[in-house]
Amino acid sequence: MAVNFRCAVQTLVLLGCVIILSNVLCPVGAYLYNNRYAGDQVFRITPSNKEEVQVLKKLLGNIKVDLWQPNSASLIRHNATVDVHVRRNDTRGLRTRLQKEHIDFKVYISNLQKEIEKQTGHRSSRKRRSESQYDYEVYHSLEELGKRTRSYKKAVWIDCGVHAREWIGPAFCQWFVKEALHSYQDDSVMRRLMNQLNFYIMPVFNVDGYHFSWTTDRFWRKTRSKNAKYHCRGVDANRNWKVKWCEEGASSQPCDDTYCGPFPESEPEVKAVAKFLRKHKKRVKAYISIHAYAQMLLYPYSYKYATIPNFNCVESAAHNAVTALYSAYGVRYRYGPASTTLYVSSGSSMDWAYRNGIPYAFAFELRDTGYFGFLLPEALINPTCTETMRAVKTISSGLLKKCETGMHELDRERYPYL
Ligand SMILES: [Zn+2]
Repeated sequence: MAVNFRCAVQTLVLLGCVIILSNVLCPVGAYLYNNRYAGDQVFRITPSNKEEVQVLKKLLGNIKVDLWQPNSASLIRHNATVDVHVRRNDTRGLRTRLQKEHIDFKVYISNLQKEIEKQTGHRSSRKRRSESQYDYEVYHSLEELGKRTRSYKKAVWIDCGVHAREWIGPAFCQWFVKEALHSYQDDSVMRRLMNQLNFYIMPVFNVDGYHFSWTTDRFWRKTRSKNAKYHCRGVDANRNWKVKWCEEGASSQPCDDTYCGPFPESEPEVKAVAKFLRKHKKRVKAYISIHAYAQMLLYPYSYKYATIPNFNCVESAAHNAVTALYSAYGVRYRYGPASTTLYVSSGSSMDWAYRNGIPYAFAFELRDTGYFGFLLPEALINPTCTETMRAVKTISSGLLKKCETGMHELDRERYPYL
């Protein structure tokens, strides 16, 4: 008998990692772990002198065992118990040898498979979770931690802190998580977004650079990778992507702040996120990167002056987002293609996301317009994050509606994801 069931994963890891709310299919057999532990035993062995210790080490070295206590054979001492998990085919031989050597032992667990199944029971028969009552007195797999919803959901990716000195970025990502968790019950928009979309949040993209901006150089921008030939460190993590890499608006000089790196995806941070987004690109419908400062909402292209194929949909999403942002405190954002609104830059994450099939790719440049610049006071975290939440929620809500792109058929062939 084999039972399949759907399960959802929700993992929350702050700082340098991602929050994952996603669904996967988990097959489960009639026996846990395909019955692989049937007949396996756990022996408790107590060598009473140094000679027995040596014999025991040799014995355990000759068969493949899983030491539970101590966790290495080198730590076996006389008069200290050794707990060892022995495969079913080796139990008889080990028992005979121990008896022959007169080493004291007991079979502690006679059928490991049974004990494993006793601990958690069969998943399919357990009440895995409920919204109002979470059972803290049973063990939970990752799959049991999230909200169970349909298996396919569109997803939104948000990253913050690509550039180290832009501290309002990581503050926003954390704010987003807080809001998602706290307002879920009372805010129907948030509840709908959480139910119908998956959000992937990376609170600090450039962890080493961010740390360096706290300890040494407040205005550090790049990563902290070493360069073999130059004393200057770091690569601009927003010029390191494989999209018109190191062309206009990026520097090939390692000491420059916009250094594109020795090759595309040379930075482990960029490589890891690119890999993740490639893997999930069919589901990720919006890529949002949080920067500062300029008070702008930018969309592709960065690397050239041209109109994107789904301009109408993206432009109206941007318009609605800045309107929602303005409604909080009257703060005005400019919006438009990055190349014309800010400047031309190549190798950016936003262009890369768009070129890789994510139809809504945005970069926010948060407050302010230069009065405080990177030193935006902590007192402004709350209003800045509050208004930005409105914009991000608006973009996300837009994913749940249809948008006609107004594209030509030729473009449809080239951009089948739109
Ligand atoms: Zn930036």
